[in-house]
Amino acid sequence: MGHIFVIAEHRQGELRDITFEMLYKARALGREHAHTLTAVVLGGPDSGFGDRLAPWADRVVVMEDDRLSAFDADIYTAALLKLVTDEAPFLTLMGHTPWGMDLAPALSVRAGLPVATDCVDILLEEGGPVAIRQIYNGKLYSRVGFKASTGYMMTVRPGAFSLDEAPPEDGAGEVATRALDAEVPESRKEFVEFVDTGGGEVDIAQADLLVSVGRGVGEAENIDAVKALAELLGGTLSCSRPVVDRHWLPKYHQVGTSGKTVKPKVYLALGISGAFQHVAGIAGAGTVIAVNKDGKAPIFRVADYGVVDDLFTVVDALKEKITSG
Ligand SMILES: Cc1cc2nc3c(=O)[nH]c(=O)nc-3n(C[C@H](O)[C@H](O)[C@H](O)COP(=O)(O)OP(=O)(O)OC[C@H]3O[C@@H](n4cnc5c(N)ncnc54)[C@H](O)[C@@H]3O)c2cc1C
Repeated sequence: MGHIFVIAEHRQGELRDITFEMLYKARALGREHAHTLTAVVLGGPDSGFGDRLAPWADRVVVMEDDRLSAFDADIYTAALLKLVTDEAPFLTLMGHTPWGMDLAPALSVRAGLPVATDCVDILLEEGGPVAIRQIYNGKLYSRVGFKASTGYMMTVRPGAFSLDEAPPEDGAGEVATRALDAEVPESRKEFVEFVDTGGGEVDIAQADLLVSVGRGVGEAENIDAVKALAELLGGTLSCSRPVVDRHWLPKYHQVGTSGKTVKPKVYLALGISGAFQHVAGIAGAGTVIAVNKDGKAPIFRVADYGVVDDLFTVVDALKEKITSG
């Protein structure tokens, strides 16, 4: 039996979804392979994260200190290095997020533990853990094994695992507070303020019905037709990143890893190919309907319903149906 560590992530006093996605997976692995699950949370004084995480893990290690209030990779790495050295977890998980991308390589080198990044699944096999990663822009999955080690690390792609918002009923982890007992370096950064670029006229994260448009829409002028459909359906307009990059819609409409994670009951994807950075943002969607003129577009792998057609044909037909009926 070993320990699985999940490094919790938070922002503006809220635990991030990736934390619960990792806990969900780690809990299942722990139950299956008799490993204990420890959630590790670093933050400022009186964060309250320990109690929030307790139902999800067998144990929560809370490290609170003024120097941990804002994420600082140098300080967080030093703090985690001490913890990982002291407790020797079998597997340490963190998000493949700006936090994890900063922390994992440094921690891996300093702790001497092998790391696999951007994992979309985790298997625990006889010879050790196996990470499943995507290659060739998501077209193939690869199995990544590790050299034998006492511990292993992985960063986990947001949206790869379920997000079950209700805590497990049988969960009641013990919360242990630990001082920041590592020698931490002087911070090289100063946290000034958090600026949320996601704010705007609409909050796509709260919408029940999203009508989402991708590069397939062709040009800015064509978006009005899709917007009109969204309004007729009582839905909200969202989009993929190229639409924002081309300034066809403001950033707060963007779905995906560098946009927003959305959980609508229905997600209508029009002219969106289904790149993993986009699809990661709709993992919590109810029914996904995709319209794409390329029948081999990856979006059809995650769609519940698919239409292989020109998006404007479908948009016009839907508008006609709604207004005539
Ligand atoms: C670090 C990083 C972060 C990223 N973050 C995000 C993110 O948050 N969100 C995001 O969306 N992307 C993100 N991306 C970009 C992502 O990799 C893809 O490039 C992007 O999602 C593709 O957008 P798209 O599907 O609209 O365009 P494309 O991939 O160009 O697909 C357009 C699709 O439209 C179809 N099409 C064309 N014309 C029509 C028509 N008339 N009718 C029907 N179908 C048509 C085509 O067959 C095609 O499948 C990120 C990339 C990186 C590197």
